Amino acid sequence: MKKKLLSALLSTAMVASLLAGCGSAAAPAADAAAPAAEAAPAAEAAPAEEAAPAAEEAPAAEAAAPKEVGTIGVAMPTKDLQRWNQDGENMKKELEAAGYTVDLQFADNTVATQVSQIENMIANGDSILVLASIDGSSLGTVLEGAKAANIPVIAYDRLIMNTDAVSYYATFDNYMVGTKQGEYIRDTLDLDNAAGPFNLEIFTGDPGDNNAQFFYGGAMDVLNPYIDSGKLVIQSGQKDFAEVATANWDTATAQSRMENIISSYYAGGEKIDVFLGTHDSTALGVENALDSAYKGDWPIITGQDCDKPNVKNMIAGKQSMSIFKDTRTLASQVVKMVDAIAQGGEVPVNDTETYDNGTGVIPSYLCEPVFADVNNYKELLIDSGYYTEDDLK
Ligand code: BGC
Repeated sequence: MKKKLLSALLSTAMVASLLAGCGSAAAPAADAAAPAAEAAPAAEAAPAEEAAPAAEEAPAAEAAAPKEVGTIGVAMPTKDLQRWNQDGENMKKELEAAGYTVDLQFADNTVATQVSQIENMIANGDSILVLASIDGSSLGTVLEGAKAANIPVIAYDRLIMNTDAVSYYATFDNYMVGTKQGEYIRDTLDLDNAAGPFNLEIFTGDPGDNNAQFFYGGAMDVLNPYIDSGKLVIQSGQKDFAEVATANWDTATAQSRMENIISSYYAGGEKIDVFLGTHDSTALGVENALDSAYKGDWPIITGQDCDKPNVKNMIAGKQSMSIFKDTRTLASQVVKMVDAIAQGGEVPVNDTETYDNGTGVIPSYLCEPVFADVNNYKELLIDSGYYTEDDLK
């Protein structure tokens, strides 16, 4: 019953979203498949207090009231990469504060583990799934089960590809992450005016994560003209996505690739001017390799996530910038989506064009990524309560 109710509510919410002009013709097929007749009984079945105008309700009491939608399944990729611990804990905290029961799972970066966790969530009758995939293309089969059971799926931060079981996507503006990194490099080296040439090496993330293409694409759209004109030179010649990707976003993998690059192309004292590191765990590998094998002046290094070791390195002058993606913001956005789905309201989205998962554009909410460096990290990270001073010692 609950699942039917949710499916109908989801359908109603998506129609509302489309009527409000947020949708495109590419709304997920699951929506179209929901029989219209289900919408009426479901709407009537909504508890009376939920139908009252939100403004008249005391927010605190509402927050504590248990929701009647059952358990929300939250699947995170791993505890090994710092940000997913924060994402998972924030999601759990925020959903519980909003009155939901939460089943939070971490999958140790192993696809089979994540698939079996999701199978369990479906078998246990979880009402809504919030999923940060390990490999965005590996969940199609298991999500057929979610679709068959009419369980709405929100892709969390990473888009789940090639399945029409995904209803919504919440993330940061991943292309903007890349452009901010590229612009930082362009402006810091003053590429429009300086004579150059400057030596550049490039590191990006896991090829199984759709985000990695967006990070890389955003940065390369800024940097490509300077590479084409010869102002930026890639001594290793490693430029294409496949050559610069880092499986599992793994620090040790990035470190060993960097050590090879140093010994093959920079052993004669050539200067490395800049690294495009599209995120922090690979930037950390680069920094470790430089520490152990590079004797020249420290290059410009970009990153993303404001992971603790990288912020420490920013403070120590070993990483130039990072991108702060406040996982608290993303978590509260996803809670708003969950609430809207559960209550049959209009699901908040702000992008209905960018993220096509192979079955159509998935209605998305993109949070804004923020530039971070040694000059503003205190305000962004410590004053906001994201980290304590001790976290960064
Ligand atoms: C996230 C990044 C993160 C990376 C590795 C990506 O999907 O968007 O913020 O750096 O995964 O954890």
